Amino acid sequence: MSHYKIGLEYAQQQDENDPLATFRDRFHIPKDKEGTDLIYMTGNSLGLQPKATKAYIHQELEDWANLGVEGHTEAKNPWLHYHELLTESMSNVVGAKPIEVIVMNTLTVNLHLMMVSFYKPTPKRYKILIEADAFPSDKYAVESQLRYHGFDEKEGVVLWKARKGEELANYEDLETILETQGDEIALVMIGGVNYYTGQFFDLKRITQLGHQHGCVVGFDCAHGAGNVALNLHDSGADFAVWCTYKYLNSGPGSLGGCFIHERHAHNKNLNRFTGWWSHNKETRFKMRDEFDQLAGAEGWQLSNPPILSMAAIRASLDMFAEVGMDKLTKKSKQLTGYFEFLIEEMNNANIKIMTPSNPEERGCQLSIQVKNADKKLHHQLTEAGVISDWREPDVIRCAPVPLYNSFQDVYYLVEKLKEILK
Ligand SMILES: *Cc1c(COP(=O)(O)O)cnc(C)c1O
Repeated sequence: MSHYKIGLEYAQQQDENDPLATFRDRFHIPKDKEGTDLIYMTGNSLGLQPKATKAYIHQELEDWANLGVEGHTEAKNPWLHYHELLTESMSNVVGAKPIEVIVMNTLTVNLHLMMVSFYKPTPKRYKILIEADAFPSDKYAVESQLRYHGFDEKEGVVLWKARKGEELANYEDLETILETQGDEIALVMIGGVNYYTGQFFDLKRITQLGHQHGCVVGFDCAHGAGNVALNLHDSGADFAVWCTYKYLNSGPGSLGGCFIHERHAHNKNLNRFTGWWSHNKETRFKMRDEFDQLAGAEGWQLSNPPILSMAAIRASLDMFAEVGMDKLTKKSKQLTGYFEFLIEEMNNANIKIMTPSNPEERGCQLSIQVKNADKKLHHQLTEAGVISDWREPDVIRCAPVPLYNSFQDVYYLVEKLKEILK
């Protein structure tokens, strides 16, 4: 039995009782021509801008204006160590130890750097296992690594597919793949939360399975970071990568994050691409020394990082530190559960939610299949003031984000959908 209720009054009540409701005011909410808030459901694609971001970036612009190169050491937040200001809050967001986490580069770049270190193919064990509907960038990256090592990309990619007539990947099938082909698979690389279906995988279970069969296991957590409790350290995964412009609200194209499990922190025998930022911090500026590998995830850095982008990430992470992932995921389950309830109350035979109904197997996103619909539905939603995402052939993805979306957002979204489908 559901504890949710239909009607606007219930949504208003939920917003009044929501301990995180005030955070909405700390974001810029896009508006329509009349100045009314749009119903923004695409925080899974580009998170909204915290109002504080401007001040964080402004601080660095001011220090640069006033100090020039001296800002590296004399800025209010010295740029030389700026990335360290992000490490603790980022590790709390993804459930890792500080030594395991670094903010650097962008997601796909980090994925390649991780494969440099952790994809070590041999003639017998060279395949890479991904989920069948993996995000295109991940698929292209994996295929190019296979080609780079001289393997055929068609033969080298093993797909974890949903069964015929189903949308969600099934763990038994993964077990079967690993039992039958495990000794040919070098790397298991799965999207921690699938971008299309919204399925949140059991990272620990997949890691254990992969490791049992001698595979390295990594995750792309682009749709997980800031959305679900990833517990990366406990998962035992070898590595993970993510971006910060989706649920972590750091602005378009901002830097990505990277996790490398503690057990690899001091391993100097891993293949790596290196640069001066991978070198021991104490002696980096002597500039003459033999290369001295920095321990932990920091040791995978190459370059001195873009401070303005890091300032935007810091503005957002400070807010995440204030709220904490526990409260955030608690509200998220309420809000998405309410969304699911309202969709089911529509009782429309053409509508099917692809995303798992178990709250532990999803984040805030629901992927909704509307049979016989086409892109016109998406245009109609946009016209009605709903910013959502359309995936061909017939899927709308909506992500009510607990930091800034309200129960009333969800209520009005479903009302508008009803109106359009009438
Ligand atoms: C968003 C996303 C990307 C984007 O990669 P960039 O390198 O940041 O452009 C890659 N993979 C997944 C799974 C994503 O969701």
